[in-house]
Amino acid sequence: TVRKGIHIVRSQKETDGTSRGHRLEMDLRHAVARGELRAFYQPVVRLSDLSLAGFEALVRWEHPEFGLLGPEAFLRSAERSGQITAIDRWILREAGRQAYEWGAASDGRPLAINVNCTGHDVLDAGYTDDIRWVLDLLHDSPYSLALEITESLLVEETGLVSAELQEHQAAGARVCIDDFGTGYSSLRTLQELPIDVLKVDRSFVNTMTKDTQSRELVRAVVHLSQVLGKHVVAEGIESAEQAELLRQMGATYGQGYLFGKPMPAGEAAAFTERGVFVAAALA
Ligand code: C2E
Ligand code: MG
Ligand code: MG
Ligand code: MG
Repeated sequence: TVRKGIHIVRSQKETDGTSRGHRLEMDLRHAVARGELRAFYQPVVRLSDLSLAGFEALVRWEHPEFGLLGPEAFLRSAERSGQITAIDRWILREAGRQAYEWGAASDGRPLAINVNCTGHDVLDAGYTDDIRWVLDLLHDSPYSLALEITESLLVEETGLVSAELQEHQAAGARVCIDDFGTGYSSLRTLQELPIDVLKVDRSFVNTMTKDTQSRELVRAVVHLSQVLGKHVVAEGIESAEQAELLRQMGATYGQGYLFGKPMPAGEAAAFTERGVFVAAALA
């Protein structure tokens, strides 16, 4: 949306204009080597029975001076400087290793580990090697690997990116469109690109219980996904009312603060043991 565009431009300017922004950009070059990156994990659940479907890995940076930083503090500059691929290679391997460990201790029901990636990553030979490494590692694991990519990146370099994604898909990775509904993909791209899952942007989920139009848009996306034979993940579920509505619409998966915020691996492990979310969720 226009509002989002304006927000991005402004925050970019602010970051560039401050010495802290410059400092972060310099420090980020060493963050991977110094072991300052952390992987946080947010649970994804099956809406039908609220059982655990897997986790999305989300990057954090434990800055020695500024403390724990979220991606909004450094990812945009990392994309500009090209650091993004080093970061994404790190989290891909880390999340793969973690899923392998969890999988070995689980009851064998299928689960997914999701990582976020950019068009830069997908076209990087090293990233491709790492995907193969993770797919190999998870070969006999209950965990499968899913790559989350935003719509805009898919549309920009459709040919190359989609060829790469198709290869990963053939090798066993699943491909998700992240923040679906906020980008520019046409119905044709949806039909032609190698996509298994649509992740409905949380801005729609956020307003769907108050705003009829958002609600009907989400319903239409769920229907569209069924027609195209893809799964839907609803992002940003914060209330039981939203979860129930989405379940009734036939959305397969859900993710949001209602089920769990992104958390360190140690905490996430408790979710893998509990399995089903008997929590207050749908009470
Ligand atoms: P995303 O991939 O769409 O991830 C979901 C974001 O929504 C996460 O923010 C998550 O904390 C937040 N979220 C989840 N549930 C709720 C909810 O119920 N309410 C609200 N208000 N927010 C919720 P986070 O961790 O700050 O990440 C922001 C974005 O940064 C991600 O959006 C993704 O685009 C990007 N990102 C995060 N980690 C990585 C990474 O390792 N590599 C790359 N390339 N991008 C990443
Ligand atoms: Mg994501
Ligand atoms: Mg998203
Ligand atoms: Mg998002």
